[in-house]
Amino acid sequence: MDKIIIEELEVFARHGVFPEENRLGQKFVLSMELYLDLSKAGRTDDLTQSVNYGEVCAFCTEWMHHHTVQLIETAAEQLAQCVLLAYPLIDSILLTIRKPWAPVGLPLKSVGVSIRRGWHRAFIALGSNMGDKAKYLRDALDALERHEAIQVCKAADFITTKPYGGVEQDDFVNSAVEVRTLLTPLALLDVMQRIEHDAKRERLIHWGPRTLDLDLLFYDDLVLDSERLNVPHPEIPKRAFVLDPMVQLAPHFVHPYLHKTMQQLREELG
Ligand code: ATP
Ligand code: MG
Ligand code: MG
Repeated sequence: MDKIIIEELEVFARHGVFPEENRLGQKFVLSMELYLDLSKAGRTDDLTQSVNYGEVCAFCTEWMHHHTVQLIETAAEQLAQCVLLAYPLIDSILLTIRKPWAPVGLPLKSVGVSIRRGWHRAFIALGSNMGDKAKYLRDALDALERHEAIQVCKAADFITTKPYGGVEQDDFVNSAVEVRTLLTPLALLDVMQRIEHDAKRERLIHWGPRTLDLDLLFYDDLVLDSERLNVPHPEIPKRAFVLDPMVQLAPHFVHPYLHKTMQQLREELG
């Protein structure tokens, strides 16, 4: 992808683990690569189609001045997020923060950290079969939208479906949502589980009745098989109540290891 490059912006700031660093301050050197599509700006010669690197430099300088944290890891994490939120055209950022005067007591040129952060596309399934089911789903959508690192792009219709998995229980209301997020998959799962918890979700019977179930269906084209998280959600091809909303949201989205579109998976399920 295209990028804007900013090299070695010098900022005097007060980040550090030692009290003297917070009191006296020192020099920090910031370099970054801002990944975004520059073709439209290139064709139109219009700055509003790109990101003003002067503004970004002023923004980062201001941010470094007005915050004091201990670790450059923290400074980088927070600053990267602020830049991505302030400049929506930027898809991802590679940010390096160096400390040439780090109090190490040995001759070195500089120490630093470098992180890459950016927007990811994820799909989340929603389900409820207790109480005011549609309200649980609406509240969950609101809670996702309120999170600063999550943007709800598109929500599918709410559909009523028969329970799945052999447990005798009430009908479900299901849906799915497409989001844009700065969170890692596990951090997104944490947020989803916090929202389930706030809806008084209790895990009593596997596949049993619940006020709210939020499952991460896809996260970019990631394939992850771990103890806490399996992505894509393994049951997708067997579940019409997931595939119907997915067909509505993204019929041509390709499953990362089945290599079939949502539409194809739905047709095969019959
Ligand atoms: P199913 O996942 O088959 O729809 P469920 O939604 O009823 O069943 P839960 O009780 O909500 O299951 O979740 C059980 C565990 O599944 C969670 O603790 C979570 O760590 C894990 N999990 C693994 N992969 C995912 C995923 N893609 N989305 C949500 N939870 C997941
Ligand atoms: Mg589920
Ligand atoms: Mg679940």
